[in-house]
Amino acid sequence: MQAQQKPYDDDYAATDIMLKLPPTRGKIIPDAPLAEQTWFCVGGPAEALFKPADVDDLSFFLANCPDDVPITILGLASNVLIRDGGIPGVVIKLGPSFAHIKVLGADLVVGSAAVNSNVSRTAQSVGISGLEFLSGIPGTIGGGIRMNAGAYGSEFKDIVSSVVALDRDGNSHTLYADQMGFSYRNCKVPKDWIFIETMLSGEAGDPGEIQKKIKEIQESRIKNQPIREKTAGSTFANPDNDPSGRKTWQLIEAAGCRGLKMGNAKVSEKHCNFLINTGKATALEIENLGEEVRRRVKDKTGVELRWEVQRIGIEKKETEE
Ligand SMILES: Cc1cc2nc3c(=O)[nH]c(=O)nc-3n(C[C@H](O)[C@H](O)[C@H](O)COP(=O)(O)OP(=O)(O)OC[C@H]3O[C@@H](n4cnc5c(N)ncnc54)[C@H](O)[C@@H]3O)c2cc1C
Repeated sequence: MQAQQKPYDDDYAATDIMLKLPPTRGKIIPDAPLAEQTWFCVGGPAEALFKPADVDDLSFFLANCPDDVPITILGLASNVLIRDGGIPGVVIKLGPSFAHIKVLGADLVVGSAAVNSNVSRTAQSVGISGLEFLSGIPGTIGGGIRMNAGAYGSEFKDIVSSVVALDRDGNSHTLYADQMGFSYRNCKVPKDWIFIETMLSGEAGDPGEIQKKIKEIQESRIKNQPIREKTAGSTFANPDNDPSGRKTWQLIEAAGCRGLKMGNAKVSEKHCNFLINTGKATALEIENLGEEVRRRVKDKTGVELRWEVQRIGIEKKETEE
């Protein structure tokens, strides 16, 4: 059991939600701006942002947080579009105590907040191959598991052996790969479970060869993706219902959407499945542009695109500035 502390620092004004939240050894920030912490650089604040001190702190918090308080977990927010009205309830971000990377033979035990590129680099340095693709996916291990993120012919399902997750009541579960329900850019673990740690498995490899592969991946990304822009990567998943087997970017191209602009949101010229905030876009402009692309693709090709980017939060009320 944890020492009872106030649920917020003295400096913070107690909003209604702050009064509802349990004590914690971590940090809770009310009305916390999120936009600058997302790749799109848009979106409203979190009603409260919680940074747990460690797993016990998070588990205690979940067990004692009232059921009517919505909880959203974020990694590096490289695959989310947070709407302009912000996220109601508590947004959880895992910090350094969830970012460990331990080597065990050809396996790695990795905290969910570890950044993919750091994991890939560690694997390279100790001669574990199979994790090179992580160097091409911005984000954390937790976000990668949720999305079954993938690139260059590999995805998380190929390297995850087991995952430790906390459910909404703070109970810990260990799930093995065949219990994860991985599918294309998805997994079937309940949406409100939080991944804490995972065991990733590779094969013994030559560090020089692994390094070469990582370099090729990084060069390919620079060449083909607008990685220096404010974007969230591929906006729509590749369809499984196009009889001609075209990829999403080909459908968007066919619908004439490359370079399409709405306000300050734009379809990337470099990779037309990427939407870009050209500077001061709102989340609404980006979402509306995405919907317009979906509409044009449907009209032109008959295919209904599925959003891969996770749209979360609420729209801004009209009376708000
Ligand atoms: C330039 C660019 C290139 C990209 N290229 C690729 C690519 O090649 N392949 C690809 O698959 N994706 C790609 N993406 C998308 C994105 O990087 C991946 O989906 C990534 O895995 C998201 O990780 P994240 O930590 O940023 O998760 P977030 O964006 O923060 O969250 C994504 C989802 O995961 C959930 N989540 C996050 N952490 C946890 C956790 N600990 N427990 C449970 N759920 C959690 C969130 O609630 C949300 O639903 C790209 C994005 C950008 C910006």
